[in-house]
Amino acid sequence: MELFLLSLLSQKCCYVLTGDSLKILLVEDDWYSAETLLRLLSESQYTIDAVADAKMAWQYVETYNYDLIILDIMLPDSDGIRLCANLRNEGYTIPVLLLTAKDSTSDRVMGLESGADDYVVKPYNFQELVARIRALLRRYHESDMLIQEFVWEHLRLDLRMNTVTYKHQPLRLTQKEYGLLEIFLRHPQQIFSRSALIDHVWSAGETPSDEAVTTHIKGLRQKLKVAGLLTDDPIETVYGLGYRLKPAVSVPVQVTAEPIAIGPLSEKTVAESISSLDQARVKEVIAIMSKKLIASLPATISMFRRLAITLDQDKLGVDLRYEGYMQAHRLIGSLGSLEFPEGSAIARQIEETLHSDFPLVSSNADLLQQLITKLEQNTLNSLPIVPTALPLLPTHHSPLPLLLIVDDDLLLTEEILLEAENWGMRVQTAADLSIAREKIAKEVPDVILLDNIFPDSSENGLILLDELAQRERKIPTVMITTASGLSDRVMVARKCVCAFIEKPASTAEIMNTVSQVLYQHCNDRSKVMIVDDDPTLLKILRRSLERQEIEVVTLQNPQQFWQVLESTAPDLLILDVMMPEYSGIDLCQAVRTASLWHDLPIVFLSAHSEREIIRQLFVAGADDYLSKPVAESDLYTRIFSRLDRSRLSRQTADFDGLTGVYTHRRGIQVLTQLLRMAARNQQILSLAILDLDLFKDVNDRYGHSMGDTVLKQFGSLLRRSFRHEDVTMRWGGEEFVVGLYGANLQQSLERLNILLETWRKEIFTTMRGEYFGSTFSAGVVEYPRDGKTLEVLYRSMDTALYQAKVSGRHQIVMASNLVRSA
Ligand code: GH3
Ligand code: MG
Ligand code: MG
Repeated sequence: MELFLLSLLSQKCCYVLTGDSLKILLVEDDWYSAETLLRLLSESQYTIDAVADAKMAWQYVETYNYDLIILDIMLPDSDGIRLCANLRNEGYTIPVLLLTAKDSTSDRVMGLESGADDYVVKPYNFQELVARIRALLRRYHESDMLIQEFVWEHLRLDLRMNTVTYKHQPLRLTQKEYGLLEIFLRHPQQIFSRSALIDHVWSAGETPSDEAVTTHIKGLRQKLKVAGLLTDDPIETVYGLGYRLKPAVSVPVQVTAEPIAIGPLSEKTVAESISSLDQARVKEVIAIMSKKLIASLPATISMFRRLAITLDQDKLGVDLRYEGYMQAHRLIGSLGSLEFPEGSAIARQIEETLHSDFPLVSSNADLLQQLITKLEQNTLNSLPIVPTALPLLPTHHSPLPLLLIVDDDLLLTEEILLEAENWGMRVQTAADLSIAREKIAKEVPDVILLDNIFPDSSENGLILLDELAQRERKIPTVMITTASGLSDRVMVARKCVCAFIEKPASTAEIMNTVSQVLYQHCNDRSKVMIVDDDPTLLKILRRSLERQEIEVVTLQNPQQFWQVLESTAPDLLILDVMMPEYSGIDLCQAVRTASLWHDLPIVFLSAHSEREIIRQLFVAGADDYLSKPVAESDLYTRIFSRLDRSRLSRQTADFDGLTGVYTHRRGIQVLTQLLRMAARNQQILSLAILDLDLFKDVNDRYGHSMGDTVLKQFGSLLRRSFRHEDVTMRWGGEEFVVGLYGANLQQSLERLNILLETWRKEIFTTMRGEYFGSTFSAGVVEYPRDGKTLEVLYRSMDTALYQAKVSGRHQIVMASNLVRSA
């Protein structure tokens, strides 16, 4: 910790080469370019943080220690040139590489004038970019390592020996005086305010007053004077602003080192770096990322289409236009870099059409439509794996689960009918209760969606609910109703309805709830899904597994992969490597990119034992592989152990066993719903991340089970402290996330402060009679102010939490307070 603080302190003035990985901040709002770079760079000992806007970038730069910043010029909330200039003004000397989609000389000049060190024009060639990054890092570190001393007239500060001499006579400076002098010499001409000096020279644990700075400067001046610098005090006081180094009379500050090259890298340096890149790996990553990009295009294209339609109706607002413009702009970069040059060119035309300098009239809609179609044809020829785009073919496996909708709202029923296919369900509908009874008698549904109120009838949904409760095999039911009073909820809960949705609700929200209820209530035998094009193998595997009471779903045709995956929600997935159309690796990658499935265990069946193929499997996200032909003993040892673990986690899928709050997975789902609800109702929402302080110490000192007791107690406090409509979840380990619906930052802060105080008062006693207490730190954000997606919100609250930790723990930090001027 101490060491880390030290490196934080030195962030503005020097780079400490510790042999650790180099840290890069990537500021890029195009996810595909960012992710590709991340993959390419993280393999070569770089650690990369990626952020998508200038505000976050500023927070990260202020919080962490970077060796290089890669900056996109066009950002959603600012531009890279301005950000770079701000960084330089604040005294950050970190090398900056600009990524610019604009290939005009004036942009380059402006970029370099703002203090950037190099630039690359988009769409860039990844090999060149990676090469430039490497070369830039090398150049800076070499030059920095070469700095040995600073010279100001006859004053010398030797960095290697940590000594200061004047006319070869040593000066005895205190640590702080030395630190101050070094800062001035490193940044000649720059004015430092007292608080800036505190930031640089004092460690985070110390809280000196401004007077302390004055005192130390005075001490330093005094010693310099005694040493012989009688008349020309090198440190000048700039009234109202701070201090700076005076220009030396005879010679300026000298840095005895190789001259630091400034400006763009030479072509030779770049060429040397390119030749050392693993070309094959670059190709591989680009191939993976282009697949992902293509898979995401249908959504972007439909956004463009929506835009064209609203334009055609003369209703295009500035927001949608701007969104379209930014999306097109990002596509220029990502399509270009991921080897779709023509797609990139079309995206550029779309960008130009949507540029705000040009008036848009409804007649432009035609042109736009043509461009969109062109883009679609040009890029979507390679078929994506998109869950919703696949046709529902006759199934080879057990029929899809049946949903019965009992509702007289025909519009809603119609919408769900359309949607259900994508969720892997069959649907039957009943406009009133008597039809519902008939349908249930004919085929028992797997789940029911039931409206409470039927105005045309004397009956209401609760009556059917009563009848259902008499059945031996319960049918999970989701109640949907406009009545939202507490008494309704209680009544419905008594009748064991599994979920309750308030109208109006989006179809997606309804289907999400229905599918969750359905799969929670499926029997709790473990489920394995096997995808293989060899029917004989499928049969053999099925038999072996079913003998062990495992439910098996087999799939011979990967075309239906998503429907089957989503409708069965298996505990484990077995994939063949080679299959027609999609390989197992394709499917595996697709699964890993879906947040809901990223932790599903995946085992490959492979007739290949070549190391390269096996490596690819693991790169794609496999957990294990079995070689074909599969021996039954392997199935037992490899599959069952994995299954036991995964099943265990499925059984405890919703609530964390130790703390009783939502698990990570379920919590994410609920938070996502909460965010969606807030968006729909234009409500605000606060999120907080809570992390127990120095919890490792509790385990170390009092034992792991005592640690568990503390966690359990904390969970119980959380549950008691938050209301029904709030969400409390265990994010992982000793970290918890709380979502407060309708609460602003101030209100959440008040409630969290109470929690902080209550928790501090809890005392734990060990078996040996020792007692101790615990505290937590928290970061808070507000939706939509600090972000619109869970991911963005999480990142900002995590940064705030980090700040709370470094500022001494046992406190709450609001993300918005972290941002100064970006
Ligand atoms: P900080 O204040 O910086 O958060 O320090 P910390 O020690 O709390 O943080 P760190 O992340 O280093 O350690 C977290 C510890 O929490 C390590 C891990 O062993 C412990 N932990 C995580 N989950 C559990 C659990 O379920 N039970 C117990 N007893 N300990 C856990
Ligand atoms: Mg902790
Ligand atoms: Mg932690």
